[in-house]
Amino acid sequence: MIIAIDGPAAAGKGTLAARLAAHFRLPYLDTGLLYRAVGKRIADRGLDPGDPAASAAEARALDPDELANPTLRGHDAGELASRIAVHPEVREALLAFQRDFAHRPGGAVLDGRDIGSTVAPDADVKIFVTASAEVRARRRTDELRAKGREVDFARILDEIRGRDARDAGRATAPLLAAHDAVILDTSTLDADQVFAAAVAIIETARRGPPVSPDSVLG
Ligand code: C5P
Repeated sequence: MIIAIDGPAAAGKGTLAARLAAHFRLPYLDTGLLYRAVGKRIADRGLDPGDPAASAAEARALDPDELANPTLRGHDAGELASRIAVHPEVREALLAFQRDFAHRPGGAVLDGRDIGSTVAPDADVKIFVTASAEVRARRRTDELRAKGREVDFARILDEIRGRDARDAGRATAPLLAAHDAVILDTSTLDADQVFAAAVAIIETARRGPPVSPDSVLG
């Protein structure tokens, strides 16, 4: 079973996807890490994230072991990721790795921006996790403050809106709900409610569409 989780920044995709993977005993790929790792390679080498050829060369040279680097989770890596992610050449270079992961025997859970639309259009279940920009900014602010960081809500909201605009506005594989995705708006839900709703969506998809009496009677 392939489960595709897409949605904008700070919508809670990662938390949900990791929990679903554990629940259904499936391998999990956070595809944002691929883009973050390419961004880090560019920064480490003093290259220009606006250069498509240099960015694509780094994407092709990426070693999956690099994804374990904890610095990739930080804010700056996310901003860099969204800058190199606009290049079609970069997306193309990262596609085979993601597709192979999705099509492992037994299936997988992947989260990102274009899993249901581009990486695994054949996914058994597609969930588009979203929430208003204000709710996402509030959650991100609370999360960072809980870690002892001094952060400004208005700045985080601005950054989230900026990232949304870049991810949704790019020409190749923009952030978008696949036509057959189920939209899960988490604005008024907590993490447990989001998880329960996603499990219900997956169980429904697993049972398949209702069998019509005509097809039973032949
Ligand atoms: O999900 P995460 O915040 O880690 O992603 C970082 C950036 O990588 C996103 O803002 C987006 O620009 C890019 N990305 C993407 N396609 C994916 C996953 C991430 O373009 N499948």
